[in-house]
Amino acid sequence: MKIIKTLLVIFIVSFISIFLTCGKQQTAFEATNIIMGTIVSQRIYGDNSNAAATEATEKIRSLEGRLSFFKPESEISRLNSSAGRTKIKLSPDTFFILSKSIEYSHLSGGMFNIMVGPLVKRWKVTGDNPVIPSPSEVRSLVALINYRDLILNKNELTARLSKKGQKVDLGGIAKGFAADEVLKIYRKHGIKSAIIDIGGNVSVLGYKPDGSPWAIGIQDPSKKRGNYICSIMLNNKSLSTSGAYERFFEKDGKVYHHIIDPTTGYPSKSDLQSVTIIGESSVDTDALSTATFILGLEKGLSLIKKTECEAVFITVDNKIHATEKLKNMIDCDASIEFHSKKK
Ligand code: FAD
Ligand code: MG
Repeated sequence: MKIIKTLLVIFIVSFISIFLTCGKQQTAFEATNIIMGTIVSQRIYGDNSNAAATEATEKIRSLEGRLSFFKPESEISRLNSSAGRTKIKLSPDTFFILSKSIEYSHLSGGMFNIMVGPLVKRWKVTGDNPVIPSPSEVRSLVALINYRDLILNKNELTARLSKKGQKVDLGGIAKGFAADEVLKIYRKHGIKSAIIDIGGNVSVLGYKPDGSPWAIGIQDPSKKRGNYICSIMLNNKSLSTSGAYERFFEKDGKVYHHIIDPTTGYPSKSDLQSVTIIGESSVDTDALSTATFILGLEKGLSLIKKTECEAVFITVDNKIHATEKLKNMIDCDASIEFHSKKK
C-alpha cells in the first residue's frame, strides 16, 4: 500500500488541452487514474477521444477486477484459493494471459514464472509491512513454484493449480495485456494518435499530431523519478521497463526488490538495474522485461535474440547496452554499446 499512498498524492485529473499543429487545432484528451496499483495515464488526439479514454479506463478496471492478486473475488484469486482442489472457469482474457505466461516461462527457462505468487505474498515487498522470510520458509515456498502445475484446458476455458498453496500472480504481464486492449479500443474509435502508460508499460498509436514520433524517456535508475537517461523515438510500438529501483524495501542496509528469482525465492540478483523492451505488443514486452531483468545482460540478450523485440539494458555499473536496430531511434546521456541480434 506504500505505493498507493504515494500515488494518491497525485491529483486524479481529467482535462482537455489544445494542441496546435499546422495552423489546425487538435484536441487532446488527457486522463490520469490509479488502477492495478499504479498510475494509468492516457493522452488521445482527435474526435471521440473522450469516449475512447472512458471506455479504455473501464476496460482496465474490468481487467483489474478479473486479474487482481489482491481482490478476493477476482478470477485469479478464485483460482488461487481453489489450488489443489478444483478447476476454475475463466474469461477469454484471463485464459489468454495465463497461456502467454506459460509460453514465456518456456522461453525464459522458467525465469518468467507467474507461480511466484506464494513468495510475492510472503515477502509483501510493495506492502506496508514487508517481511524477510526465514531461509527454510523460502525453501518450502520455492518447492511450490512449477509452471507445469498450472493446468489449462483450452476447450473448456478452465485452469487448475495442482497443489494446495500454489498461487499465480500476473503482476509481471497483466498491465502489458491491458495496454494492448486499450490500443484496440482507440482504433475502434477511429483514433490515429494516442499514448497510454500503465505503470511503465507505454504503448503509442501512430505519430504525434505534428507527424513526429513519440519520444519516450527511460528512467535513470540512480536518480529521482522523472530523470531520464535515454529517450527513444517510437510510433505504433510498445515499451515496458522493469527495474529494482521503484518497488523495494531496505533492511539492515540491504535492498530487497519485487522481482523474484523462482530458483532461489529471493529478489533476483543480476548485473542489471533496469531493462526496457520495445516491441509490437505490450503483453510481450511486459513479460520479457521481467524475464530479462532476472536473466541479466548476457542471457537476457540471448533471449531477446529469439524474439522480434529490441532492448535497452542498464547495468549496475551504469553502462548502457542496446540492440542494434535502436541505433537511429535512441538518444542517451551516456555512451551506448550496441549489440547485433544476429546469431
Ligand atoms: P514487472 O517487472 O513488470 O513485474 C514485476 C512483478 O511481477 C512483481 O511485482 C510480481 O508481482 C511479479 N513477479 C515477480 N517475480 C516474477 C517472476 N519471476 N516471473 C513473473 N512475475 C514475477 N499493487 C498494489 O500495491 N495494489 C493493488 O491493488 C494492485 N493491483 C494490481 C492488479 C493487477 C491486475 C496487476 C497486474 C497488478 C496489481 N498490483 C497492485 C501490482 C503492482 O502494480 C505491481 O507491483 C506491478 O504489477 C509490478 O509491475 P512492474 O511493471 O513494476 O514490474
Ligand atoms: Mg513485466
